Amino acid sequence: MKTNRRHFISTTLAGGITAAALPLSSYGSPEADSENANYAKLDAVLNEPVFRKELFVDPVIIESVELLRYGKSFLCRVRSKDGAEGISVSHNTMNVLYPIFVNRVQPVFINQDARRLDELIDKALVFAFNFRFGGVAIGIPLATVEFAILDMMGRIAGKSVGQLLGKIHNTHIPVYQATEWREKPVKESVALIKAAVRKSKAQAVKIKVGALMFMTKDLDAKGPAGRTEEIIPLIREAFGDDMALYADANGYYEDVNEAIRVGKLLEEYNYSYFEEPVFFDWLEGTKQVADALSIPVAGGEQQHGVHAFRWLLANEGLDIVQPDHYYFGGMIRSLKAARMGKAMGKLCIPHLSGGFGFIYMLHLVSGMPNAGPHIEFKGYTDLPIECKTSSLRLENGTIKVPTGPGIGVDIDPDYVRKYDVVKDA
Ligand SMILES: [Mg+2]
Repeated sequence: MKTNRRHFISTTLAGGITAAALPLSSYGSPEADSENANYAKLDAVLNEPVFRKELFVDPVIIESVELLRYGKSFLCRVRSKDGAEGISVSHNTMNVLYPIFVNRVQPVFINQDARRLDELIDKALVFAFNFRFGGVAIGIPLATVEFAILDMMGRIAGKSVGQLLGKIHNTHIPVYQATEWREKPVKESVALIKAAVRKSKAQAVKIKVGALMFMTKDLDAKGPAGRTEEIIPLIREAFGDDMALYADANGYYEDVNEAIRVGKLLEEYNYSYFEEPVFFDWLEGTKQVADALSIPVAGGEQQHGVHAFRWLLANEGLDIVQPDHYYFGGMIRSLKAARMGKAMGKLCIPHLSGGFGFIYMLHLVSGMPNAGPHIEFKGYTDLPIECKTSSLRLENGTIKVPTGPGIGVDIDPDYVRKYDVVKDA
């Protein structure tokens, strides 16, 4: 949504109180609504609260927000004035982002009522021009504090994080095995992918197509010649007709026609979606690929604004939305993207960036009415944790969502004591 300042001023002057009283966070623009009716549906979703503040009668004032560090590992601990506590595990990128957390995010939340979490997240994005750190630089610090606050609020209310954010739609989450190795020759790639699936026993798998991304050392490399064209049929052959297969180009294709050519090959071998066919911020290119293919086009792990999802959904540019709950600034924002997808009849298959994140992923997906058939899985955490309500292991293709209060997982307190509070950054 672009706010039309001229329209706002003229309506305010002519119409008085009604327009002037619109909340600043309200979504919607008259011009867009008249062009495309989908915007009204999407804006209705964006104006719905996510955090269920009605579960809390009294204010929960945040007394402290601490970033804790042990080597390259970071936790966040929040405490309320009444002594409630929540803890979160940050993403490994916090190793370079902690000054943003300490100087730009932490101060926004201290002394605030945690029941205003939706609003605090929005404000933290604007505070001190934080949006200039658009992307993981602001998203990961925001997500880190949000997860800790959700854990604290869940422990106060005796509710799981999913319950704090809406209804529970899923209790056991089916997963697909994420794989890499696009820099390896085809044969070696296939062997590694088969071994990964054998090990995890996942009942679906995603492969990489295209080149020049993660693990590619040579900037001019095109990847092993013909790898994409060869691996697509070979993986179908390796796993049989019944296995759900997905493919991810990580935005590699610079040419829409090239992306469409690969998409047609995926269709021929019955893959179920094609992820990030072109660079993530090329919204029109993504739509052109989606328009030309019958295979669903997925994307969104790199998006950092809700309006990118809004445009893509309103204009039928994306069939599956994939916010990442760390990169995108938390579960509340990710659920907004998912619910916008739902309003357009689309699925959400969030992106997972690994490590402890899969536990947050379980909670996020538990509250998702339009989760896809398999959710990303990249392995378990190596932190010493205890969970009384789930093995947190893949069993029969699914992982059970913890049902205890907050995230339902406790980190060994002796281990937490090894961490120091980050004071100056
Ligand atoms: Mg991806």
